[in-house]
Amino acid sequence: MTIAIPSLADRDIASVLHPQTHLGLHAQHGPMIIERGEGIYVWDSKGKQYIEGMSGLWCTALGYGDEELVQAAAEQMRRLAFTQIFSGRSHESAILLAEKLKAIAPTPFSKVFFGNSGSDANDTQMKLIWYYNNIKGRPEKKKIISRTGAYHGSSVATGAMTGLPPMHACFDLPMERIRFTRGPNYYHDAEPGESEQAYSSRLAGELETLILNEGPDTVAAFIAEPMMAAGGVIPPPATYFEKVQDVLARHDILLIDDEVVCGFGRTGHMFGAETFGMRPATLTAAKAISSGYLPISAVMIPDWMEEVLVEGSRKLGGFFHGYTYTGHPVCAAVALRTLEIIEQRDLVAHAARAGAHFQARLRAFKDHPLVGDVRGAGLIGACELVLNKARRINFEPRLGVGNYCQSRCQDNGLFVRAMGNDTITFCPPLIISETEIDEMFDRFAKALNSTLAWVYKQTPIASTG
Ligand code: PLP
Repeated sequence: MTIAIPSLADRDIASVLHPQTHLGLHAQHGPMIIERGEGIYVWDSKGKQYIEGMSGLWCTALGYGDEELVQAAAEQMRRLAFTQIFSGRSHESAILLAEKLKAIAPTPFSKVFFGNSGSDANDTQMKLIWYYNNIKGRPEKKKIISRTGAYHGSSVATGAMTGLPPMHACFDLPMERIRFTRGPNYYHDAEPGESEQAYSSRLAGELETLILNEGPDTVAAFIAEPMMAAGGVIPPPATYFEKVQDVLARHDILLIDDEVVCGFGRTGHMFGAETFGMRPATLTAAKAISSGYLPISAVMIPDWMEEVLVEGSRKLGGFFHGYTYTGHPVCAAVALRTLEIIEQRDLVAHAARAGAHFQARLRAFKDHPLVGDVRGAGLIGACELVLNKARRINFEPRLGVGNYCQSRCQDNGLFVRAMGNDTITFCPPLIISETEIDEMFDRFAKALNSTLAWVYKQTPIASTG
């Protein structure tokens, strides 16, 4: 009698609940199992090689198989696998990492709070701002304004601050105290003939109207990614943050800078705040902080906020927030080594230089019949596929053009992500060379042409320009 041994794929279907996945379709099609990675490449269980054009999930900045990170983790694990940092305990890796983050931050910060993910870090941001205003005697000043199209996480609070409707549906989100203003989307949203500057003024005006309608005394903070990532890689239009920051300053509203994707060189500067002219009150970092090798995030706060937190401890007997793995020694050691490598290998300058080549290759797709918009900065970018280029009309979502293109990229050995509006996003490891950038976009070009051929079959009037 032969006993059928279930495959790993079958066992995945039987046991793993997958995040951000169509669960019914997954049960039918099963997973793609990734086995190993090296440099910018990963291999699946059938031995097929892919360029990791999305750095996993915008995180593996140093690519795969970096021995120095492996060493940093192994050494720290041997020496001290864990200690908590509650109640006055500490350890070297957390201290050095906090110092390093303060040294490279885009504005002066006095303290760093560590978490495990971008979501819990943004959750901490929200709690800190509520706490800050309570201690300051302003219990009404609590609302947080986010933007349509923003992604800030998947916890209750950060799912609520995420401005993507599927993240809310049936999860009873968003919640009280979260408001949304229009996120920038110059390509779709600008009036005919409206300049980027005029569009930015309009958005800043809308933000101010929202604040005035809510009552400035009830609004605590505005949260923004320097450049929206999961919303479709949407850079702010010219003068956007300058104008938004004027509005925030007028009403004593804090700017939370969510650098979870843009941080650590991605946009050609160490932080997206530097690329796009943000002056944050507080900052969230995650993902590339450890090149995605281990989960860790950081919230950075300025001295004037720290002073209020200290006052809170005097009033309440302590600062009662934190996680078991806050400042986890192994994660901190790997993050510290990641940031040292980014500096030693001059990867921020590399992201700017290689980024110029990346952006030029990306922008060349603008002439393709399927491509309506190309956008990005540094080593992050997107191509939006449209039905009608002249009128900027998207395909009907039910056609799944973006997903089709993503699958053809996969056939051609390339991982990208299809976001809303059939937007294909690219965010390769920062170590990518110019030759590898060419290889990535050559693979994409093949996938795009297959997509065009398929689109013509589906909808004869497509892409008439
Ligand atoms: N903020 C931004 C800008 C993100 O892109 C993400 C995740 O993609 C998050 C926060 C949430 O991070 P995590 O998935 O680590 O919780």
